[in-house]
Amino acid sequence: MPEGHTVHRLAAAFDRAFAGQRVRTSSPQGRFSEAAQLDGMVLLGAEAVGKHLFLPFAPAADVDPGAPVVRHVHIHLGLYGSWTFAGDPGFADAHAIGAPRLRMGEREEELDGAADWRRLVPRPTVRLRIAGAHGLADLTGPTACEILDAQGRQAVLDRLGPDPLRPDPGGRERRRFVEAVRRSRTTIGALLMNQKVVAGIGNIYRAELLFRARLDPFVPGRDLTAGMCEEMWEDLVALMAYGARTGRIVTTQPAHRDVEARIVERSRGTRQNGDEDPEVVPREKSFYVYHRQTLPCRLCGTTVRSGDLAARTVFWCPRCQSVRSRRASWTRENPAAPWALEAPARAPAG
Ligand SMILES: [Zn+2]
Repeated sequence: MPEGHTVHRLAAAFDRAFAGQRVRTSSPQGRFSEAAQLDGMVLLGAEAVGKHLFLPFAPAADVDPGAPVVRHVHIHLGLYGSWTFAGDPGFADAHAIGAPRLRMGEREEELDGAADWRRLVPRPTVRLRIAGAHGLADLTGPTACEILDAQGRQAVLDRLGPDPLRPDPGGRERRRFVEAVRRSRTTIGALLMNQKVVAGIGNIYRAELLFRARLDPFVPGRDLTAGMCEEMWEDLVALMAYGARTGRIVTTQPAHRDVEARIVERSRGTRQNGDEDPEVVPREKSFYVYHRQTLPCRLCGTTVRSGDLAARTVFWCPRCQSVRSRRASWTRENPAAPWALEAPARAPAG
């Protein structure tokens, strides 16, 4: 499942590709027949909140996105959803999309030159096609794809906790996170997967954030100090900003990347955009604990463990992640944490 940074990249890609344009919409699969209501409207832009994407459609480009006439397409990709882009040269950089890599569709081999995207026949599984002046986007396999009015959009937002990738000048979002964690008896590992506590993070960020905080995943939220929660939030903001900028989750400090650079993969689940690019940090060097169960911890050599927590596998180092309660002072136990992320070696895409 894409984590929040990917959805924010998608929103940015939609903005670049379609914002302010009158677009054609259709549902080749037929399961989103409401697409006909949007055909010929203007796509005002795109908005990401957590793992949710909103595409506001209006009769004209100068309509306020909050106006009652605006129709918001609400999309959640879930486990299997993806967007595929095709278009003129420069329309959508595959690395900038965040969704699975650029696929031109089943007739790709028949295409001759970039201008031919207009003749691209959608696959029968395409739930929603949006076509603009310079390219198109095909949505397949989403968990949610629906049209909402302003109230419906707000109702979705009201169910979501703070999103570390949204601007938070007054620190209000951070306070919401800290309070939600500290009033709960639930384990911090489960709280981090609850989209009402924090919106947009998934299994990779959960495991890596807890490692960087040296926190035992099974500690109840209410045992953590406000300072620990604030530090965790700030670390999450930095990690996800890096992900949104580069399209990749990388949580290791450079000095630790070549130590025990291995990973245990049973599926393609940890593949990220740009994995084929020799200049990016490869995924076996990107994580401290995610999919590193049974391997030695990069820092202390203890075997990394895995277990079930909130319906997903959590990975942790039992020695490094020994902070169990408020009595274990953050600064005493972890003078260096949270660690700063270094900028990527190459200029980030987008
Ligand atoms: Zn360790």
